[in-house]
Amino acid sequence: MSRFWSPFVKGLVPYVPGEQPKLSKLTKLNTNENPYGPSPKVLEVIKAEANDALRLYPDPNSDVLKSAIADYHGVSVSQVFVGNGSDEVLAHIFHGLFQHGKPLLFPDITYSFYPVYCGLYQIPFEAIPLDEAFQIRIEEYRGLNGGIIFPNPNAPTGCFLALSEIERLLVVNNETVVVIDEAYVDFGGESAISLVNRFPNLLVTQTLSKSRSLAGLRVGFAIGHPDLIEALERIKNSFNSYPLDRLAQLGAAASFADQAYFEQTCAAVINEREAMAARLSALDFQVLPSAANFLFCRHRVRDAAELAAGLREDGVIVRHFKMPRIEQYLRITVGKPEESEILFSSLERIL
Ligand code: PMP
Repeated sequence: MSRFWSPFVKGLVPYVPGEQPKLSKLTKLNTNENPYGPSPKVLEVIKAEANDALRLYPDPNSDVLKSAIADYHGVSVSQVFVGNGSDEVLAHIFHGLFQHGKPLLFPDITYSFYPVYCGLYQIPFEAIPLDEAFQIRIEEYRGLNGGIIFPNPNAPTGCFLALSEIERLLVVNNETVVVIDEAYVDFGGESAISLVNRFPNLLVTQTLSKSRSLAGLRVGFAIGHPDLIEALERIKNSFNSYPLDRLAQLGAAASFADQAYFEQTCAAVINEREAMAARLSALDFQVLPSAANFLFCRHRVRDAAELAAGLREDGVIVRHFKMPRIEQYLRITVGKPEESEILFSSLERIL
């Protein structure tokens, strides 16, 4: 800390990202990446673009990518906003779309970037407890608020809320912006994009980092009413004029053109998730039902920190959140079947 730091900077509590170690000998099941590579068609487009066009600036409006997203989701281009990962899209939303003076509402166990952005943008918030089954109670989100945000499926629990519940919320909360963060929706959730034409205060964010295996490319987007999208463009253009680099724009667009690969890899992840859940239960873990590409679980007897440390000794990295109520839980990303073998042989050694 320097004497030149303002009280504002001193007060910031930054987000701590999951560890990103060198991959050589590790089984990395800690940050919910996809174990399968991106579509070969994406790689082809990226290689061609890298050869031909890196000397040129990218399209500041990401038109090709926006069209690909709009076509895929059956909306118009004016309903699409893109950013460098959904984290950046969320940053713009937090910066400008919530009403100040009233608390932003989100669950008490959720994506830990939300309180960080509240700190950065000076937004008051109220963290609403999940119920005993770690479910979001939609009726708790109806009070006076400056906006509402939650992931569906939620993170790190993996629990999924039915679309009818979100609809119920939107019917009564029509004065402030409601953001549904669908980072994991393709692994078993139901997207709220189908509701954007009915509710002008709804914004849905998605990412290409998980189901489309492009975490390293950094592409995310929001879909909503053109007025909300225009507001996001204004906020973005007050910072930087180039949203995404050339490789990200074209590679991401190409991903939407390979539906077969997308479906095949999502199905493989979902199959492996169910197989892992059964094996964890057999080893005396309590496993929350997951609609995401990770499992949230606790051992009925053994301490989570000890288990995480034991796995680490065997080169297996999982996520352990040292937070109230969930300190005995581990979040384990679904990998390839061969990664599960390494995980389970390590667990059998430790248990
Ligand atoms: N939302 C949730 C719920 C997440 O877990 C993540 C990944 N950490 C993100 C958003 C951000 O993903 P990205 O920036 O890679 O699009």
